[in-house]
Amino acid sequence: MKLHEYQAKGVFADAGLPVPDSTLAATPEEVVAAAEEIGYPVVVKAQVQVGGRGKAGGIKVAQNADEAREAAEEIIGMDLKGLTVDQVLVEEAVDFVNELYVGVTMDRTVGKPVAMVSTQGGVNIEEVAAEDPDAIVREHIDPAFGLHPYQARRAVFEAGVPRDVANSVASVLTTLYQLWDDKDATEIEVNPVMITSDRDVVCADAVMNIDEDALFRHPDLAEMEEEAAEDELEALANDYGFDYVRLEGNVGIIGNGAGLVMTTLDLVDYFGGKPANFLDIGGGAKAERVANALDMVFSDENVDAVVFNIFGGITRGDEVAKGINEALESFDEIPKKVVVRLAGTNAEEGMEILNTDLVTVEATLEDAVQRAVEYAGEEAN
Ligand code: GDP
Ligand code: MN
Repeated sequence: MKLHEYQAKGVFADAGLPVPDSTLAATPEEVVAAAEEIGYPVVVKAQVQVGGRGKAGGIKVAQNADEAREAAEEIIGMDLKGLTVDQVLVEEAVDFVNELYVGVTMDRTVGKPVAMVSTQGGVNIEEVAAEDPDAIVREHIDPAFGLHPYQARRAVFEAGVPRDVANSVASVLTTLYQLWDDKDATEIEVNPVMITSDRDVVCADAVMNIDEDALFRHPDLAEMEEEAAEDELEALANDYGFDYVRLEGNVGIIGNGAGLVMTTLDLVDYFGGKPANFLDIGGGAKAERVANALDMVFSDENVDAVVFNIFGGITRGDEVAKGINEALESFDEIPKKVVVRLAGTNAEEGMEILNTDLVTVEATLEDAVQRAVEYAGEEAN
């Protein structure tokens, strides 16, 4: 789960990290009211989960009420890399002289968390990483001991952070690692950490990803989940307890088991189609879950055809077939063609139950995928 900037900054503030004063707003009136309260200049920042909001026009500095209103009118409702901006963060502007990059993530090649520091922070850290990887100093962490203060200081000095703020930056890094550990984060990134003309250190941006499987340990974070979900269908999938990822194609895919769904995605690609989603309905899928899954995939307007790939183990083919029938019978007109491949436990019973007026049944996975790609192609033309 990826938190919005304002959510992550709330978590940062609770942990004692230095963040600017800020207020969330959804209308130009709210923006101006918040700006008056905070005092000018303020920064108006789009709250959508894409990188590079600054470059894309989603962040504007305002010196007075007129400019705040103008910034709000421009940013609220704008399309930022495919997402509509509904909310902005109105924030005390920081008068900065340097921008640093600071982050904590898991280094899977080493099998340890790693803290990272660079003095080349700001908007182009990806370019820095690609062109001048040595400009990012990495310090691996033994999770049994945490990030020792001396390690944080070493990383900060090696990166070339100015001496007079080195201790403050090191302490930001130590706290970020503690947060990463305490909150079961998979990634924390602060780009930029700003050094002000008064030599203060401020976390001006905040990215925080939380391991969803650990959310049960963090009721406070779990409460943020709905707000954090950027995509309506992904939010719905959360409610249903499905593993769902929206993709860019037009062939809807439903299967039980992550490997099976991945295989189906690959086959769609192999047969010249483009998957619209990854949707794993899990083991032991009962009729109702199947109906929910179909409902979800149908409500994705990019989908032109759907392929069901079910391998019965715990999941029984007849249950799945009942679910598919129930779901499809509830429509006056079925919105997209559905192709089904059933194998494994009770597959024969399932195939008999399936209403072939409503679905196309194929005996092999290859045939089913090929057929769905064909249907999707016809529908798209
Ligand atoms: P991102 O582009 O989505 O990563 O958003 P950031 O929050 O990192 O902001 C991008 C850039 O906007 C920063 O690197 C700054 O140059 C500028 N910016 C953000 N906040 C402030 C601020 O408080 N004052 C000033 N002057 N510039 C800011
Ligand atoms: Mn940033």
